[in-house]
Amino acid sequence: MIFDILTLLPEVCAAYVKASILGRAQKAGLIEVRMTNIRDFAFDRHRTVDDAPYGGGNGMVMKVEPLVAALESLAGNPRPRIVLMAPQGRPFDQEMAAELAGLERLVIICGRYEGIDERVRKLAVDQEISLGDFVLSGGELPALAVVDAVSRLIPGVLGGECSASADSFSDGLLEHPHYTRPPEFRGLGVPEVLTSGNHGAIERWRRKESLRRTLIKRPELLEKAPLGPEDHKLLAEIRGETDGAEPG
Ligand code: SAH
Repeated sequence: MIFDILTLLPEVCAAYVKASILGRAQKAGLIEVRMTNIRDFAFDRHRTVDDAPYGGGNGMVMKVEPLVAALESLAGNPRPRIVLMAPQGRPFDQEMAAELAGLERLVIICGRYEGIDERVRKLAVDQEISLGDFVLSGGELPALAVVDAVSRLIPGVLGGECSASADSFSDGLLEHPHYTRPPEFRGLGVPEVLTSGNHGAIERWRRKESLRRTLIKRPELLEKAPLGPEDHKLLAEIRGETDGAEPG
């Protein structure tokens, strides 16, 4: 999958993309993340990318021409999906990540200043995505969040040693807790079942703790999650447990 990030800060994006899993995935040829510096498409001597808003007021607005020229430089067949990172967009979630992971190409526009000239939206943007109900000073962090979450879902990116299928949200639930060595730390042990070697019991424990966490931390997710009869039994058990607190 090819990602194109349109930004005024390509070096910021490149630094993150080079690191860890994304860097490895690029080396392996599973993804390609390209940066386009919007400033390269400014047409005046000063390479201006922003201007004062019509109607007055504070802040600057990203100009339409450099952005549209940058987008047109990326045109291809098939036409890539063009998304704009914006606090007004639909909140990003795992389901959206999974949908985007099915694309061959994704172009992501990062805004700066007060945002972009509305005509870019009208002319070119297919979808607006928000990272959440807060305002950042640029679209770079949200764009990188999208590239990261989508890349994890591309087969091979996480390698054989881990998989996205058990991650939180992938089955509508939060993930179960994890433990690794040592077996005891400051008086805190590890749930016995995890060292029992009994895979059936371990799976059951993980499913139950996944349900418990979701019930405690994000109960609204349970209403939408696809639950089977065994899950309802586990939930009944959890509700019947007097401590009701975090798993031991
Ligand atoms: N004045 C705008 C915010 C501009 S913030 C408004 O009120 O809607 C500058 C840029 O940062 C935006 O164009 C967008 O690309 C990015 N940005 C800020 N917060 C964001 C968020 N929560 N999700 C996605 N992008 C965001």
